[in-house]
Amino acid sequence: MNRKVMKFGGSSLETIEKMQAIATKIEKEALQGTQIVVVVSAMGKTTNQLISLAKQASQSPSKRELDALLSTGEQVSISLLSMMLQDHGFKAIGLTGFQAGIKTSGIHTNNRIDDIDVSHILKYLEDQHIVVVAGFQGQNAAGDITTLGRGGSDTTAIALAAKLDCPCDIYTDVTGIYGVDPRLVPNAKQLKMISVEEMKEMAFLGAKVMEPRSIDIAQHYGVIVKVAHAHIDSEGTLIVKEDMMEHRPITGCSVLEKIVLVNIQHLPASMTLIANLFVTLANEGINIDMISQTQGSDGFVTLAFTASADDLDNLESVLRYLTHDEPQVIIQLDKNVSKVSVVGSGMRSQSGVAAKLFQLFADHEIAYKLITTSEISISYTMSKEHTNHAVQVIAQAFDL
Ligand code: ADP
Ligand code: ASP
Ligand code: MG
Repeated sequence: MNRKVMKFGGSSLETIEKMQAIATKIEKEALQGTQIVVVVSAMGKTTNQLISLAKQASQSPSKRELDALLSTGEQVSISLLSMMLQDHGFKAIGLTGFQAGIKTSGIHTNNRIDDIDVSHILKYLEDQHIVVVAGFQGQNAAGDITTLGRGGSDTTAIALAAKLDCPCDIYTDVTGIYGVDPRLVPNAKQLKMISVEEMKEMAFLGAKVMEPRSIDIAQHYGVIVKVAHAHIDSEGTLIVKEDMMEHRPITGCSVLEKIVLVNIQHLPASMTLIANLFVTLANEGINIDMISQTQGSDGFVTLAFTASADDLDNLESVLRYLTHDEPQVIIQLDKNVSKVSVVGSGMRSQSGVAAKLFQLFADHEIAYKLITTSEISISYTMSKEHTNHAVQVIAQAFDL
């Protein structure tokens, strides 16, 4: 029996009309005799609106309550879509994350899926139901509702496909994966396929089209993922184990906007002190990304690092403690930065990508700050006003 997970993102479900069109799309697949599990996000900008409501209700909303609140967005979608499918004569059932057996752990608002008990889903599939699961949510061991972090419906969908041993279609508001966000570069080129390794790197480096952890799961469990438009028939882009095409040096360019850059001058050159600082940051759940340390001749070091802007409140409180303990430090917290990265597995075997980038930035007077590399990517932080220009020149130079 053929089986498939179909995931629909928020913009594809913005209105009742769009949801009706999606119901029709699902029904076409079901009529082919395929067992269908649908994963839905909240309608349109619902999650943002719920976050904004929480912020109006409380200065620092409890994350447990926030999870319960945010999960309601996806519950609206499962109910409405199931009603539509039923109206059209199909057997359908909407399941919350908990009802779908999604067990999670971790920090509220950023839980991870530990396991999924799919017995409930399988029972309904065997009984010819289209099963509509609320994305982005689960339940922890304490019985509380949890959410998986922004964009987490992708994770729900791919984790379900892994567990149900079937492929996963991700339907969104673009026709597939492009070398660069088509909203930034309107003539960007769509990729027929992309290796899971490159997709993961692009996603972690900011390509919003896929939630990065979902690609991790796809890679680990070998889930075949296709990304396509929810409302326009298109071939889409296949995320494959290995792209068999000859490797280009650069496959894509990603931008991460939500980062902050911290620069700490006059920090005593004590390895214990620096270790304690990073331990404190880690204990606060702050994910540090780029790090640079330069040693002065005066017994002090300058330390710079980037972190997610989502962790700003926690970060500021750690830095306040540091100023209290080490009053001589000079701290600059730069919120006006973004990270522009190029990604390509061809970089492993081809040299000259960094040289070309440095030349491009010099020619176009694009100033950058911290730089980091991985085996298959190079990232530059820069002031936000340079971001668009940098992306345009990269896209042109590398034909993305
Ligand atoms: P959904 O609501 O369906 O989850 P998202 O807004 O999370 O959709 O992701 C789709 C968006 O991702 C697109 O509208 C596009 O602007 C953006 N995007 C960023 N990088 C890329 C890329 N390389 N290819 C395609 N889309 C991209
Ligand atoms: N509704 C959630 C969000 O906006 C989850 C998702 O869309 O994937 O982040
Ligand atoms: Mg998304």
